[in-house]
Amino acid sequence: MPLVNGKDLLLPAFKEGKAVGAFNANNMEMTQAIIWAAEEISKELGEPVGVIIQVSPGAVKYAGWSLAAGIVKIAAAETDVPVALNLDHATEIEQIKRALEMGFTSVLFDGSSLPLEENIRLTKKVVEICHARGVPVEAEIGKIPRIEDYFTESEIAYLRSIPPAEAVRIIRERTRKSLDDLVAKPEDAEYFVRNTGCDFLAAAFGSIHGMWDDIWPIRLDLLIAIKERVRIPLVSHGSSGILRTKKDAERKGIPLLEGEGTLLDAIKFGGVAKVNVATALSVAFIDGFIETWRANPSEKDFRKLGENARNKVKEKVKEYINLFAGK
Ligand SMILES: [Zn+2]
Repeated sequence: MPLVNGKDLLLPAFKEGKAVGAFNANNMEMTQAIIWAAEEISKELGEPVGVIIQVSPGAVKYAGWSLAAGIVKIAAAETDVPVALNLDHATEIEQIKRALEMGFTSVLFDGSSLPLEENIRLTKKVVEICHARGVPVEAEIGKIPRIEDYFTESEIAYLRSIPPAEAVRIIRERTRKSLDDLVAKPEDAEYFVRNTGCDFLAAAFGSIHGMWDDIWPIRLDLLIAIKERVRIPLVSHGSSGILRTKKDAERKGIPLLEGEGTLLDAIKFGGVAKVNVATALSVAFIDGFIETWRANPSEKDFRKLGENARNKVKEKVKEYINLFAGK
């Protein structure tokens, strides 16, 4: 079917305390993996499960506007599951205009690096342009940092090699004070939404972009306070790194401190209706590729490696969709 509007997926999910997966695609294989995962789960549940496929300016730089958006549009047209196409982390109005021309059905304008009033001014402008075309706007406040802001490459390699509970202890020590400053303030979130008219809000609530594994708890107390003030769907960024469930926390031996919660808590209680997953899919793709190559280093057929990589991404997407469906 043709692309669906992002609102048509997110508003019903928000009302029901559920979430829609927003998965980043950088090539044909990842796009297929996301859609096949949604198709398989729709079949299992006996009802269509929609997905948001995201293209970031980085993906546009890699593939070009036409192919980055075109692959998703073609794949969406060939499936019965609803697919929305979101522009992820745009920082310039020109990117937004281009996305509208290309038929994106939602956009994220990320003015979070700007002072609040400037973020409001530009986001409001984006909202005017997009709403004139019926396209909803996600906006961002507070700062969602990258793990690389705190650790060097070799430190990250070390953190990846040790037990998750120990890694979390070290990350807490180094980031805690900074994260407290970066998270969105509930009163700012309310003021921002009232003055911009944005449709969805990515408010920083303690997650970190680019984590390699799902080990990091979020600030559930803060998220609930924001939800109560803004009453629009909230968006989780950096979700690849967020601990998924309390059970996972126990299994991995990661303690939840006062006010902290998991991704499932954020969906059930915190108004998170859109969950962005990028890094986890990228890591799954690379793992799948390497696994096949290690098993047969003389392989000359690229597709044999791509096939396994695609399967690994599909399985990862299914894990997330099942989690959002409460399974
Ligand atoms: Zn993000």
